Amino acid sequence: MHYHYVEDSRGDVVDLIPFCSDSCHRDYCQEHGLAYGGWSGCQEGGDSPEYCAACGTYAGGSFECDCQRDNVLVGRFLSDTGEKCEHGNWLQLPASYLERPTWNARKKSPKPIR
Ligand SMILES: [Zn+2]
Ligand SMILES: [Zn+2]
Repeated sequence: MHYHYVEDSRGDVVDLIPFCSDSCHRDYCQEHGLAYGGWSGCQEGGDSPEYCAACGTYAGGSFECDCQRDNVLVGRFLSDTGEKCEHGNWLQLPASYLERPTWNARKKSPKPIR
């Protein structure tokens, strides 16, 4: 999985935003006015399932069942309802689950023109 490192003004890492893929990482940064910061894949993730902040797909971390482990669909379109496997575990979180404290504030601002 991929991480975006959020640093404070002193350069300390204060948050990690998980992604399923580099393209989701890039899209998210562009959409939220963050500096992309470079490729950051091959992360193992934590000891609970982690989901892509951009599209909601299971991205890494400890899996709850083989469906998550074997998930190969990344970079999906956001879904209002998400998707669960036959065991009731999330393969993709609903869009509303992905909101972060900074998400709403930034979502409303227009995309920067490049
Ligand atoms: Zn994604
Ligand atoms: Zn399953």
